[in-house]
Amino acid sequence: MFENLSERLSGVFDRLTRQGALSEEDVKTALREVRVALLEADVSLPVARDFIKAVQDKATGQAVTKSVTPGQQVVKIVHDALVGVLKGDGDPGALKIDNPPAPILMVGLQGGGKTTTTAKLAKRLKEREGKRVLMASLDVNRPAAMEQLAILGVQIGVDTLPIVKGEDPVQIAKRAKTQAALGGYDVYMLDTAGRLSIDEELMEQVKAVRDVANPRETLLVVDGLTGQDAVHTAENFDARIGITGVVLTRMDGDGRGGAALSMRAVTGKPIRFVGLGEKMDALETFEPERIAGRILG
Ligand code: GDP
Repeated sequence: MFENLSERLSGVFDRLTRQGALSEEDVKTALREVRVALLEADVSLPVARDFIKAVQDKATGQAVTKSVTPGQQVVKIVHDALVGVLKGDGDPGALKIDNPPAPILMVGLQGGGKTTTTAKLAKRLKEREGKRVLMASLDVNRPAAMEQLAILGVQIGVDTLPIVKGEDPVQIAKRAKTQAALGGYDVYMLDTAGRLSIDEELMEQVKAVRDVANPRETLLVVDGLTGQDAVHTAENFDARIGITGVVLTRMDGDGRGGAALSMRAVTGKPIRFVGLGEKMDALETFEPERIAGRILG
């Protein structure tokens, strides 16, 4: 569907010999193509602009190496710069879950994949790290969502907090905490309620839960296909709740993943995992190289 960036750039650099250095004009021309590629990949305009500027300063004057074409060289410079922005500090998959029972707060909008991701992550922690995990749904307005988590729990062999009718999210969070301590769990995951859009009531509710649970990790789950909306959601949740990382779902879809770059550049928060399907195993730690390659097409 998209034209490969290397192909696009080869035309730009046709006249450049393989000796000498990348001139400012050549780099500028090439980066115009890169900018189009970024925008097509759903990177926001201001982020694309800042990124291009940084790369331009870096690329201009670089000696043209003999082993690759100037076009390939610019693609490599751009690729490395993308990885630089996308990469967080340390291992994205290493969650702070020492001092049991460690609370993990899962937040996000309805339909973003929060409940599915809660279960996927619980399975991962159980299988890869041998953790005993307790999951609790706080979505009191949507009994179906609470049941969904219970069903997934049975499916993956992870306990869920029994559903008690009439409790509010804070009461459920407190019960989860007590149950996790009494039951000898390593981790308890709180799957908070989602709404179709950000509203005051939702934020107040999540904040109250956060204050009770004092989570070690607060992971925002967002649909990676929603581009700028995902970035706005992340900004909002981070400002109001304070997040420690992002999970981008639906990265198995057609999207080019530009939201990842904007998200990182705008919020500064690391992307920890990506969802790659509906199955319980379809969760992987975030790999900047892979997304960078995908953004460049
Ligand atoms: P919630 O409302 O945020 O809890 O969203 P759900 O966890 O119920 O997910 C909504 C739908 O998205 C479900 O049908 C999930 O199976 C699906 N889903 C979640 N994550 C992914 C993903 O990474 N890829 C795909 N293709 N579907 C996903």
